[in-house]
Amino acid sequence: MTDRAVLVLNAGSSSLKVSVYRVAGETGLVRMLRGQIERIRGNPRFAIRDGEGATIAEESLGENRAGHEACLGFLLDWLAKRDDGTELWAAGHRVGHGGLDFPRPVRATTDVLDALDALAPLAPLHQPHNIAPIRTLARLHPGLPQVACFDTAFHAGKPRLASLFALPRDMTDAGIRRYGFHGLSYEYIASILSDVAPEIAAGRVVVAHLGSGASMCALKDGRSVDTSMGFTAVDGLPMGTRTGALDPGVVLYLARERGMELEAIEDLLYNRSGLLGVSGISNDMRVLLASQDPRADEAIELFVYRIVQMLGALAAAAGGLDALVFTAGIGERSPEIRRRVLEASAWMGLTLDLAANEAHGPRITTLDSRASAWVIPTNEELMIARHTLAVLADGSEGATE
Ligand code: ADP
Repeated sequence: MTDRAVLVLNAGSSSLKVSVYRVAGETGLVRMLRGQIERIRGNPRFAIRDGEGATIAEESLGENRAGHEACLGFLLDWLAKRDDGTELWAAGHRVGHGGLDFPRPVRATTDVLDALDALAPLAPLHQPHNIAPIRTLARLHPGLPQVACFDTAFHAGKPRLASLFALPRDMTDAGIRRYGFHGLSYEYIASILSDVAPEIAAGRVVVAHLGSGASMCALKDGRSVDTSMGFTAVDGLPMGTRTGALDPGVVLYLARERGMELEAIEDLLYNRSGLLGVSGISNDMRVLLASQDPRADEAIELFVYRIVQMLGALAAAAGGLDALVFTAGIGERSPEIRRRVLEASAWMGLTLDLAANEAHGPRITTLDSRASAWVIPTNEELMIARHTLAVLADGSEGATE
């Protein structure tokens, strides 16, 4: 019998991340493939591994296959040629912004895609790239059910106060609010806490998603109560190339006194700031940690300082702190960053276990530490596959409420 396979796509401006899951039984999902096509707008390069992590294909596609459509076409052909006892049954996509209308994953019908296009101004650097492959796939593979999963959705139920800017009411009503992002990552972590760390699953937990994009989220009983990102994914912590929170007066100053155009300011806030801007060296944490340049250390120290500050703010939102969870590239792989964060947060009752931290946990605080800290790898792709299965099983096609 042929098993059903779910294709998971996470499309960015320059890369297309791909996973394929086999549906086992009603709800089980087994990862069969994980890979990506990089440099999709230049000279695309495809690399993919099997469920055990062994590389099974690696090739350059050539410049004549540049662009979303050609890359996706290549991927579908490549998948169709595989004879692995599965048949492509559905696709799930990561979509940055669901706005007010999409507080949960939804089947990506034409009407839904039109509504999502209208949200592009809220996430100009991500949303168009997230949506393009859904339309392309609908053309290349008509009839394939597709589901859009939003990075904002997990935060949709947070308290109203955590959603408000102190702006006039009509602006709040028009959707100028704090949404929050990285929701698929936080939702995944919340979903496995009862297995990995049952003692904290129902408690007050702050999750630090520290990748090239970085944010933090306060969970209470597994639900988001507040988060560091707001209206867009440029708010909150400093990131690889993004500023994080910035006095809006700086933007006014740059426009008025320096005559900077909108595009130049956007480029500054999203692409030239953060670790890269402060260090003047790199946006890659590995490079900064290996550097002897004092500017590299200052960038790292600022990153850590702002994480520690945000931890205090989010613990306040949750009414205290039972645990801190590190996840994503830096959070999962850098004992040095975790050590610096925990040492500066000792006042919150976190006592680092040095050896456990070097071994990447999962628990990295001592047994007598009042609050605990953990390293838990995230899995946004699995969360998307789960949602895809659930939305299609539910039959809530096109539901937008
Ligand atoms: P993305 O947000 O693109 O998915 P990731 O979650 O993969 O990013 O995280 C990318 C970040 O993780 C980069 O800044 C990279 O330098 C950092 N990183 C990866 N491995 C390590 C490591 N061993 N030590 C420190 N930082 C690391």
